[in-house]
Amino acid sequence: MSVQSAQRAVTVRVPAKVNVQLAVGAPRPDGFHGLANVFLAVGLFDHVTATPAATPGVTVSCVGPGSESVPLDGANLAVRAAEALAAHHGREAAVHLHIEKDIPVAGGMAGGSADAAGALLACDVLWGTATPRAELLALCAELGSDVPFSLVGGAALGRGRGELLTELPVAGTFHWVFALADGGLSTPEVYRACDRLRGATPVPEPEPDPALLAALRDGDAHALAGTLVNDLQPAAVELRPSLAATLAAGLAGGALAGLVSGSGPSCAFLAADAESAALVAKSLRDSGTCRAARVTTGPAPGATTIEHHA
Ligand code: ATP
Repeated sequence: MSVQSAQRAVTVRVPAKVNVQLAVGAPRPDGFHGLANVFLAVGLFDHVTATPAATPGVTVSCVGPGSESVPLDGANLAVRAAEALAAHHGREAAVHLHIEKDIPVAGGMAGGSADAAGALLACDVLWGTATPRAELLALCAELGSDVPFSLVGGAALGRGRGELLTELPVAGTFHWVFALADGGLSTPEVYRACDRLRGATPVPEPEPDPALLAALRDGDAHALAGTLVNDLQPAAVELRPSLAATLAAGLAGGALAGLVSGSGPSCAFLAADAESAALVAKSLRDSGTCRAARVTTGPAPGATTIEHHA
């Protein structure tokens, strides 16, 4: 390897997501649940850096909160993404991926999916494979239901198991506070608990709420607050009862609304403005009901190349 190629590196920044509506249907024959999933990308980011390796294969390193529980083998979604892109182009993968995590691990904010989308884009730039967007999105969908959205960012409606995306218009910026928990929740376990809690109750076909889509389009935080819904929330709270106190602390701090993010255990709070968000975060920190409280905004852009050293 030449000295010049050893110095090449591509860094991609990828956002976390919150589901402002997560409507979950009955389990399908393939085991997945039909969803009406309204994603909003928010400003907590992982960074994925791809550098050429001297030997074939994909290696990965990971730093940041919770990184000790991220697999550093072929189970890492970023590794699988790099391998999938190499296979798609019939080329060998010889790359090292370095992940700087800021998205909570197993926190219901699609951290692994973000890293997969980041690795795909970083390797595509590093290798000069210039994969058309539609092909990148198809690779993302094979890697996981939430991966296409991590690439696209902004706001989108996900149908099917969440991977069939329609981008949504959003006016302005929404102010969010995230209460991050110690430890994660297993997404499959939360879906199983959701099915168990529903028992034999008939489950309607999941549909997006027109009032919620209008609130996003109008940039109306108060209207959005009245429509936030997560069908997985009762299951996440049953598995982690302490989330009830976290949700109460955010509301006591003046949040317009709060909900469990995706499969949890992170909780998301919508605030009226930046000042109110700071007060919500303080209330959460003072309550001692979470590991950390982070103030941010959404929508955030999708996977973005931020550094490219050739
Ligand atoms: P989602 O919101 O999409 O359901 P999540 O945010 O709850 O996902 P992730 O952070 O994606 O959860 O992690 C779920 C599991 O995936 C982890 O426990 C870990 O074992 C595995 N995993 C594989 N690759 C990664 C990665 N790059 N980062 C984090 N976790 C990963």
